[in-house]
Amino acid sequence: MRCAIAGATRFQDWLERLHISNSVLTSRLGMLVDLGVLRRSPYQLRPLRYEYLLTRRGRDLWTSLVAIWGWELAWVPEHTPPIPALHHTICNHDFLPVLLCAHCSVAVQPRDAAGTFGQAGEWGRSVPNASTRRRSRSGAPGDDPAFPQTYALLGNRWSAAMVGAAFAGARQFKDFEQILSAPPTVLSDRLRHFCELSIFDAVPVGGRSDRPVYQLTDKGRAFFPVIMLIVASGQRWFHSPEGPAMIFRHRPPASELDHPFAPRLACGHCGGELRGADIADADTDVQAPTSSHSTQ
Ligand SMILES: [Zn+2]
Ligand SMILES: [Zn+2]
Repeated sequence: MRCAIAGATRFQDWLERLHISNSVLTSRLGMLVDLGVLRRSPYQLRPLRYEYLLTRRGRDLWTSLVAIWGWELAWVPEHTPPIPALHHTICNHDFLPVLLCAHCSVAVQPRDAAGTFGQAGEWGRSVPNASTRRRSRSGAPGDDPAFPQTYALLGNRWSAAMVGAAFAGARQFKDFEQILSAPPTVLSDRLRHFCELSIFDAVPVGGRSDRPVYQLTDKGRAFFPVIMLIVASGQRWFHSPEGPAMIFRHRPPASELDHPFAPRLACGHCGGELRGADIADADTDVQAPTSSHSTQ
């Protein structure tokens, strides 16, 4: 999807950009078509050849991608070569994205937003079911050559659920165990890995280092916009008949009252709200897709 948003439309485009086999690429493109984020369209009749175009649902993922990109730019200096800067064509500056509340246009910090489960929400739906629990840990180097640390946090359902639980207030091993019903070996493995990535700090309690409190670091808290935008896209395009899985409220720091929270992204340089068409990759000038790529 990252390549599609950067302009890939033909099989060869993905093959050239990713270390991926023909068969894996074929099956993933098929899956993305089934999910309704890409659609197949013939571009040549003899022999018949298809290209893969973003649908509106797929194009909507650009906000999540920009949030991921911004987090990696700001917090993951290990990239070699460095990942290209994001460029805002409206103010003509490189930028890092800022998460805003669509209701009050104030920049949102994790402590100012509160989430509760809606009718379709429960932790049990966010974790792997029994039949898939034995898959190996994702996030090994090479899983996603562009954003390996994001992949470590989101590329696997246990990891993603643990990040969600941390933002929901889980601090100790037993909190994660209780909330997620996760196998202890999975939990200790991921907690250790998240500490290695400086997402959590393991703070000893009462002089005991064997039962630390896991606190989100600044780097960990800075991942909040990614989570918010992915959840928002999920709820916008994949409805559950029972209603939303998560309901978020925002209370600005100086206010007594809260209001519904929907995330928006703004340019950290000029403060203007970001639109996909106004963002360029500073190195290659690949533009995020405009409406001409869309299907209605
Ligand atoms: Zn607000
Ligand atoms: Zn700007």
